[in-house]
Amino acid sequence: MKILVIGAGPVGATFALLAANEGLRVTMLEAREGPSREARTLALSHGSRNVLAQAGAWSEALRATEIHTIHTSQKAGFGRTVISRGDGGVPALGYVLTYADLQTVLDAQLITANVAVERGAIVSAIDDSDACATVTYTKNGAENQVDADVVVMADGGANLSRVPAITITEKDYGQAALLGHIETDTPHQHRAFERFTGDGPAALLPKHGANEFSLVWVANPDKIESLKALDDATFCAAFQEHFGYRAGKFLSVSQRRSYPLKLRTVASPVAGHVAVIGNAAQALHPVAGQGFNLGLRDAAALVKSLRAGGGDALTSYAASRSRDVERSVGFTDFLVSAFSNDHALAKIPRGLGLAAIDMLPFARKALAKRMLFGARR
Ligand SMILES: Cc1cc2nc3c(=O)[nH]c(=O)nc-3n(C[C@H](O)[C@H](O)[C@H](O)COP(=O)(O)OP(=O)(O)OC[C@H]3O[C@@H](n4cnc5c(N)ncnc54)[C@H](O)[C@@H]3O)c2cc1C
Repeated sequence: MKILVIGAGPVGATFALLAANEGLRVTMLEAREGPSREARTLALSHGSRNVLAQAGAWSEALRATEIHTIHTSQKAGFGRTVISRGDGGVPALGYVLTYADLQTVLDAQLITANVAVERGAIVSAIDDSDACATVTYTKNGAENQVDADVVVMADGGANLSRVPAITITEKDYGQAALLGHIETDTPHQHRAFERFTGDGPAALLPKHGANEFSLVWVANPDKIESLKALDDATFCAAFQEHFGYRAGKFLSVSQRRSYPLKLRTVASPVAGHVAVIGNAAQALHPVAGQGFNLGLRDAAALVKSLRAGGGDALTSYAASRSRDVERSVGFTDFLVSAFSNDHALAKIPRGLGLAAIDMLPFARKALAKRMLFGARR
């Protein structure tokens, strides 16, 4: 069986490494030629750490920072919940690292594992027939074609519209995210913070330095652009007002950049010889940091189905993912809708919900497991 992966990003590369471990024959096409420069911070769950370890990509070079507690609250409202690593029964609830560091480790591991990656290869067409799928790509100005029994689309969604049998649904949240790096006067002690505000969620993720956090500020796109344009001191003061003092006093900020936010899903991650994984299969709002974790579970499930073999391997992949994807998308979408408004009446049930989760150990444990491992079948 010849498997061709489009996209050697974090999910595609992990898929290829897991597949190579199982003796499956994989080749990859990747548009990027040099090292990744993506500064985005990713919060990985404990389950994702396990998947990366299986792929041989969990190492010191990731410079991952452990999350020991997650503190959730709402601005100008009561109720708060704290989930700790004891609730999940794991050494850390999650890990914070940068996309570029992760990609560097995965790129090196692809070389070690002898996975063939054609770099500088930009896919421009996918034609599915009864016998196979044919992928057209351009490299150094020349057009090439390659046939495969299975095409794994792991390109973040760039080529989704080239396969007409894939049905795409999009929901625009009318929000954008500002990401940056912020320093405080108080050590983070491995605490992550999520704060729901009328504009949308704001989050702080602990980083490598003892007083450093990665910040996420979600608001409408115009506000995000004006926040990006503020000078550093004015931005720190504005974020302090928005977030409060739970993580200390904000001293300096750097690396501010913005991302538009929408939900994009596919009706089925399989069409003919094409299987879709990672952000190509579902692009989520970052409110609960679930997107990449979900993508890694796609990768692991697809390898499992392909290894089991049989004519219906892709059908079994699609079936194995429906529950986890549906629940993770639903959970994320619920958080965005329920917490992105300032109505006084909505604050009361929200506050009660947060307080109840905090008071009931079983609810905290259930939430911790959900965030750590995804929805179980
Ligand atoms: C602001 C923000 C914050 C986030 N925070 C978190 C978080 O805390 N936790 C979390 O789990 N997730 C988070 N996510 C989601 C996470 O970034 C994605 O889930 C993850 O990057 C998906 O990886 P991927 O490999 O599927 O796709 P991508 O990262 O998009 O990689 C796709 C790859 O395909 C290649 N490619 C694209 N087009 C072509 C083409 N035509 N031909 C060949 N190659 C191509 C690209 O060069 C790239 O290498 C966040 C997302 C955003 C926007």
